Amino acid sequence: MEKSIFQIPFKVFKRYRFYKRSQFWTKAQIEQYQDEQLKKLVQHAGKNVPYFRNLFENIGLDTSTFRGRIDMHKIPTLEKETVRTHTKELIVDNSEKSGITWDSTSGSTGTPLHFVLDDAVQANKIAALLRSYSWAGYKLGKKTLSLQSYYFQDRAYKYNRLYNILRFDSNKLKKSSAIKVIKEINRFKPEFFMGFPFDILMLGRFAEEAGITVHRPRSIVTYGETLSNKKREFLEKAYRCKVFDFFSLHERAAMISECEHGNLHLIEDFAFHEVLEDGKLVGTSFYNYAMPLIRYEIGDNIVLDDVSKKCKCGRNFRMVKEIIGKQCDYIETPDGRFLGSVMSHSIDNARGVVCSQCIQNAIDRIDINLVVDDSFNESSRIALEKGLKKRLGNNIELNFKFVSQLEKKASGKTPFIISKIGNRYI
Ligand SMILES: [Zn+2]
Repeated sequence: MEKSIFQIPFKVFKRYRFYKRSQFWTKAQIEQYQDEQLKKLVQHAGKNVPYFRNLFENIGLDTSTFRGRIDMHKIPTLEKETVRTHTKELIVDNSEKSGITWDSTSGSTGTPLHFVLDDAVQANKIAALLRSYSWAGYKLGKKTLSLQSYYFQDRAYKYNRLYNILRFDSNKLKKSSAIKVIKEINRFKPEFFMGFPFDILMLGRFAEEAGITVHRPRSIVTYGETLSNKKREFLEKAYRCKVFDFFSLHERAAMISECEHGNLHLIEDFAFHEVLEDGKLVGTSFYNYAMPLIRYEIGDNIVLDDVSKKCKCGRNFRMVKEIIGKQCDYIETPDGRFLGSVMSHSIDNARGVVCSQCIQNAIDRIDINLVVDDSFNESSRIALEKGLKKRLGNNIELNFKFVSQLEKKASGKTPFIISKIGNRYI
């Protein structure tokens, strides 16, 4: 569960003040801070976390002499599969003392993962995120449209007075509800649009088809899935404003944000990022002491920019040339809804699923490819079906297929959704 700013207000406020300053640190200040944080985290993990206690003993790592960034290569990278199968050993001893919350994700790989977060990492994430949004001009309380999976019972959108946010439930994204919400947007005139690029794009497509012009926001903040150049171009043209892309993950192990000058920066006061030879992004969050993920393989590739290049924004965080994530297709339902990456959350609760994929063969038929392990059983299947039906409704036939490998696209990638019925909108 994502804690809101109002649940841990003091911690968020304190960290926000920190992040407002640290964004202008010199290179040396950043590096010194990273070394300190990594030393502390590795020592903590070696002492209090069963998985790392064993690992460090096996590889003969003496945490008392650990120096930080230059010693990180001594620790093997941590795969999602290890997190999935060793969840309990990765949680700190006496975890109930740290004020923990359970969270889950299936990300872009369709691998359901469960993990715990403590209040410190939640406060840090919110504070760092608010700082990134401030690069797009955002401040708490400014009029905002948020497109997310809200699961509203009876309607497509609701207004939240406390945050001054118009919330649109992306599970209900269809033409008729979109037209209504576009009219509501034009009345409300939000300064910011936030959400998954696919959902914001679809809203623009529906407006285009209906011949309606959508109110022009000051900026659009996108997150949750890879923003392709094609999608960015469409969004900037349809809404006549700049898009700020934002990359993070539920596991809190990495963060990348776009600044005022259109450059993507690694958020180096939140996590330590490494790029392996093959381009794999590996991240270590400084703050989750309840379940440290050290050298976590995130599942996306990135290309770093030339390190000698300086950004005009004045920040010394390293720059990213490109985030090469998986491009997902979308599912179209018989009742006219369009579901993008948001779909992956429907499998969050299926135990024993190593990875999964939805292949839409017809408007009313989807194959669910599953790679499973021994712990998969009838109750996993029921949980899976329930989660999928909640999003898709009852008019789609679901065929579960147990496979040894997921289907690849011509590009060689294995996205969570593959549509065989056309992707006319993206
Ligand atoms: Zn910059």
